[in-house]
Amino acid sequence: MARHTESVCRLCRRERVKLYLKGDRCYSDKCSVVKHGYPPGQHGQARQKFSEYGQQLREKQKAKRIYGILEKQFRCYFKEADRRRGITGEILLKLLESRLDNVVYRLGLGRSRPEARQLVNHGHFEVNGRKVDIPSYLTRSGDVISVREKSRKQPVFKHITEARDSQGTVDWLAVDFEKLEGKVLRAPQREEIDVPLAEHLIVELYSR
Ligand code: SF4
Repeated sequence: MARHTESVCRLCRRERVKLYLKGDRCYSDKCSVVKHGYPPGQHGQARQKFSEYGQQLREKQKAKRIYGILEKQFRCYFKEADRRRGITGEILLKLLESRLDNVVYRLGLGRSRPEARQLVNHGHFEVNGRKVDIPSYLTRSGDVISVREKSRKQPVFKHITEARDSQGTVDWLAVDFEKLEGKVLRAPQREEIDVPLAEHLIVELYSR
């Protein structure tokens, strides 16, 4: 599977915003966006002016980086959002938010989306009692996501208390940290999706 191999902090610096890809470090002074608030590379500190197309492209790249998705799959999400009735940009974000790896992160069972994705990949979770190891699995209202019985004692889940404090939880999900279990109560509203994205620019880009 294709994946990013460069430092993920460079991705945040490129977008000039925190994308929260590294867990605890993102909430500390060690964050690269805090230390170097300019894009990486030789010309990173030069003044940058984006064309309309450039702004749209950056917004799409940012969305892909936040959710850890490559171009082909991202385009599939857009096509699906475009096919459904409603505001395409909002539907796109709701689809991305309903991915299992994102839900695990939002529940506080993973410190970052990349970590949540890895935990799902390694088969630590089940949905409605059945093992699911596909990060792109789309959750629905009423789905119960839990850490599998045999994974509960894994050291990786010791961070749960800290993650709960730094990330907080969202209203469209319910979580029981004692049981290591969460539930999707409903689809999120746009204002509940706290990602720094202007999704209309992505729609404009794909509508060219
Ligand atoms: Fe690195 Fe996290 Fe800061 Fe991004 S938000 S630069 S991933 S520490």
